[in-house]
Amino acid sequence: MYRVRRLPHILYTWMVIGLGLWLLVYTFPHLDLDRGRELLVMAALAVLAEWLAVVFPQGQLSGGFAVILATYLIFGPVATVWVNCLATAFAQGVANRGNPLRTTLFNAFQYVLVVLVANFLYALAGGDAGRALNWSNVPPLAVFMLAYFGLNQLMVYLYTLPVRRGYPLFHWLDALRWDGLTYLLAAPIGLLMGMLYSKTGVYGTVLLFLPVLAVQFVLRFYVHLELANRELRVLYEVARRLGGSLQLEEIMDLVLKETRRVINFHTGVIYLWSEENKCYLVGAAYGPHARLIKGSAIQRGEGFLGLALENGEPQLVDDTRSDVRTAGDLGLTQVHRSMLVVPLLAETEAVGLLVLGDKRAGFFEEKHLRLVTIIAGQTAVAIANAQLYRKLKVASITDGLTGLYNYRYFYHRALGELERARRCGDNLSLVMLDIDHFKQINDRYGHLAGDMVLSGVAGVIRSEKRACDLATRYGGEEFALLMPQTGPAEAMLVAERLRKAVRENLFEVEGTRIQVRISVGVATYPAHASDLAGLINAADNALYRAKESGRDRSIAFSRGRA
Ligand code: GH3
Ligand code: MG
Ligand code: MG
Repeated sequence: MYRVRRLPHILYTWMVIGLGLWLLVYTFPHLDLDRGRELLVMAALAVLAEWLAVVFPQGQLSGGFAVILATYLIFGPVATVWVNCLATAFAQGVANRGNPLRTTLFNAFQYVLVVLVANFLYALAGGDAGRALNWSNVPPLAVFMLAYFGLNQLMVYLYTLPVRRGYPLFHWLDALRWDGLTYLLAAPIGLLMGMLYSKTGVYGTVLLFLPVLAVQFVLRFYVHLELANRELRVLYEVARRLGGSLQLEEIMDLVLKETRRVINFHTGVIYLWSEENKCYLVGAAYGPHARLIKGSAIQRGEGFLGLALENGEPQLVDDTRSDVRTAGDLGLTQVHRSMLVVPLLAETEAVGLLVLGDKRAGFFEEKHLRLVTIIAGQTAVAIANAQLYRKLKVASITDGLTGLYNYRYFYHRALGELERARRCGDNLSLVMLDIDHFKQINDRYGHLAGDMVLSGVAGVIRSEKRACDLATRYGGEEFALLMPQTGPAEAMLVAERLRKAVRENLFEVEGTRIQVRISVGVATYPAHASDLAGLINAADNALYRAKESGRDRSIAFSRGRA
């Protein structure tokens, strides 16, 4: 299953299995077969406890140790070795949780060593040979229990060591805490079973253990329901909030955070299609590598992620080191052992890619894939809507032919700028430009050529204007440039610069070069007007005078000569 199986690990595994098997056979003559039926009952209880173990993301709960402890108290170490080993092999072998046979064998046979060593320490601590349940025997019994718990943890920890490389310690500590809790609950029940045996025989102990099994059974359902419930809540929450969200950043943030409530992944990334760069760029990233990941990009069809985007299918990778799909891949697949990759499909278009990664191999399950696929579907629609909304918003304020702002937006912004200038006591200049004899250009070269000249002039204005100036297509062949914090003299300089730039530029249309000239009118708030309507009027007025006095010139507004 895992590629990294180094020699010491293989040796360790098979030595434990071999030694356990040998000890099992070696102790067989000491097994009291007269009580074989009772031992089978105990083994059956241990199997049931394991089968009904309450499994949840942080660990598992089972009363199995109560049976082992009772067996030890009643029947002694050899019987415990046999019951523990066989019950584990049978329970894990039949109700397999996706482990290879090697793991099942290891789990079963390490108990042989664990029980025998714990029994040895019990004797060393002065434990009573008959394992009597009295006060003076409590400390040795405690030694047995602690040794059993500690040794078992150690053996399993060493077994899983190669898989744990890069596996954060706290995950193991989390599991350890739950295991500890299990032992704490099971130990008193085991002691009680041991006490009861002398009064009632094995059937009393069975009767005592049945409620434990019943509680496990109910808890399993409860945990299962609780997890399913949490998934549903997250789905509901995502659907509800995505429905009302039109901001891209908000959508991506919401999806990563909500998903993490049900799947405890290390890293979450959303890639989005960038029309400008013709590739997928990081839209949002969550986790310890977020900053590193932010600069990455995916080309469609390239690498594992690029291929996932191209074929549009969700991908689940158990172990990037051994999976052929991720072999030789760079980037995210290098940092993670498990990955869940889901394309964000709106219609048939992949608007993006959702990638979840974890350092642990085998972290993601089929049910995670299903859940994330549903979330991804909703996310894709929300993202497509947000992008469309963004496009429409841009379209509603720009002029289609020239790409400059349209009159509506100009007016809205000009009102705001004028208010700001008034508040701050600033200048605000308006430059109006009109192409000279544009009608002739249309007549001579055709309407289409006229259109190209218009967008050419717009290009000149865009490259000559300052970043804070607002360039607008004001009307047919009229443009306006609104310049905040600009006085009359400076505005005239800009006007002249613009006029000359247009004049010097030859607009090439289908092989012919067309020379274009413009007339410019300039007005400034507050020198020439006290409100927006007045400012527009003043600039218009100046423009009219530029036309009247021969065109191809810039004229600033002056009073009394209208
Ligand atoms: P003047 O120097 O006095 O400004 O002369 P002019 O010919 O430029 O002025 P006039 O306002 O008479 O004509 C403007 C022309 O611009 C009329 C109209 O057909 C043309 N026009 C307006 N919008 C467009 C457009 O989007 N594309 C094209 N090709 N022509 C347009
Ligand atoms: Mg004109
Ligand atoms: Mg005109």
